[in-house]
Amino acid sequence: MSKATAVHWFRKGLRLHDNPALVAALKSEIELRPVYIFDPWYEKNVLCGPNRWRFLHQSLTDLDKSLRDIGSRLFVFRGTPEEVFTSLFSEWKVQRLTFEIDIEPYALERDEQIIKIARQEDVEVIQKISHTLYNTELVLKANMDKPPLTYQKLVSLLQSLGEPPEAVAAPKELLSEQRVSSKLLDSHDYDIPTLEDLGVDQSQLGPCLFPGGETEGLARLGRCLERKEWISTFEKPKTIPNSLSPSTTVLSPYIRFGCVSSRLTYHKINEILKVYKKHSKPPVSLIGQMYWREFYYVVASATPNFDKMIGNKVCCAVPWDENPEFVEKWAQAQTGYPFIDACMRQLRQEGWIHHLARHAVACFLTRGDLYQSWEVGQKVFEELLLDADWALNAGNWMWMSASAFYHQFYRVYSPVAFGKKTDVLGQYIRKYVPEVAKLPTEYLYEPWKASLAVQKGAKCVLGKDYPHRIIIHEDVYKNNIGRLSAAYKANKLLAQETLDEDDASSS
Ligand code: FAD
Repeated sequence: MSKATAVHWFRKGLRLHDNPALVAALKSEIELRPVYIFDPWYEKNVLCGPNRWRFLHQSLTDLDKSLRDIGSRLFVFRGTPEEVFTSLFSEWKVQRLTFEIDIEPYALERDEQIIKIARQEDVEVIQKISHTLYNTELVLKANMDKPPLTYQKLVSLLQSLGEPPEAVAAPKELLSEQRVSSKLLDSHDYDIPTLEDLGVDQSQLGPCLFPGGETEGLARLGRCLERKEWISTFEKPKTIPNSLSPSTTVLSPYIRFGCVSSRLTYHKINEILKVYKKHSKPPVSLIGQMYWREFYYVVASATPNFDKMIGNKVCCAVPWDENPEFVEKWAQAQTGYPFIDACMRQLRQEGWIHHLARHAVACFLTRGDLYQSWEVGQKVFEELLLDADWALNAGNWMWMSASAFYHQFYRVYSPVAFGKKTDVLGQYIRKYVPEVAKLPTEYLYEPWKASLAVQKGAKCVLGKDYPHRIIIHEDVYKNNIGRLSAAYKANKLLAQETLDEDDASSS
């Protein structure tokens, strides 16, 4: 006769620490069976490059090991959650199902469906918030159920709610009733599929600079926290987009997959700030960065079609150009602007680039130079970033294309001067764009200024060894500013007409 079980369903939140839903699964003295499901919906609908697959795989492997250390394991399935749970609920005599709340649109629909099935089977469902600092619904409630559209507004709402909950401790050794039988521990039926089984093209993997998993993530957080002075004086715009080793924490992939809890990070940083009284402040401080994350999560949770221009209330409608060749050259780092190409190559190879490097390439693709929709840039980032996160990716793309939240569309990044400010010698370019590496430093950012003789001497003949620049920044950016200004005016007119209509219909 098999025993009753409690299932904790891991989705994001791939950790034992600060996992209130996992702790809730342990409240009764029944066997704990932690589950992870490879859901084909994601494979069909979300672009995921090999580097992120590897990060996920490493995170699951680490999680399985940590669970085994306390007397359980990870049970991995491939299939739709509906199919998996429909059979598991009876097969495993599931009494309780727990999981972390996920505000992404597909996740909400999926969970509603699973809750329905659970009810039919008399399975208790417990959901907990632990991906964000705050309960996004409470933040919205404090703003009369409307998404706050400025960062300052968000911060004042968060402050009105007090400090976010403390991180919950990781479960230690399980009680004997909660432990998984040795037969199941040894069974290979529920093993994590290999990258090969998952169909990942491993020839495209880059160097593994940021291995996935809670253990790695907590170690990284620990190393950051040791630099107390740095934490207390951290100011985002003063960090360097093109330094050869990261100038920010690179916690983003770990926080995105939930290998590291945002609440733990927040409270640990705050402990340091209590000692260093003259610390930096939001929006530029590290706590400020955590608030940016919260900002996009809160707005995304209350904005239908947040990742699209059409049907998205917060997004300015812009008639962007459609030039697939431009997009391809940008995505494949062949724009002829070495700084832009260096950033895009670092992204493709390593899966992470600095925030301001993201700014530079996003501005270049959209309002600055190529005038392509932010949605296509979002898709490329979705594929290549280790930290690709639905709410943050869309929110930041809207920001940088000046489609929402940020409206100084006339402040355009120069694809030459911006990178030069922090890397005059162009070491970053030399590393990632070896074709131009032998050019004298004065031409590294602007190879088109080098004479043919210099180009030949450096084995970097434009059009042969490295592309001519895709557009001439000086010629296009002012025109683009004018086009965006016209789009803003059209949106204002439209907004005014809608208001007039609303007034007319309410009077
Ligand atoms: P740190 O500066 O050390 O900040 C600590 C943490 O704060 C980050 O790990 C992250 O969780 C959060 N954070 C920092 N900046 C932001 C921000 N602007 N918005 C939201 N959260 C922030 N970040 C993602 O995590 N996933 C994405 O898909 C993503 N897409 C982006 C797309 C564009 C076009 C741009 C301009 C930015 C994007 N960002 C995204 C935000 C930001 O660039 C990264 O979070 C940050 O660079 C990660 O590096 P870090 O961990 O060293 O950040």
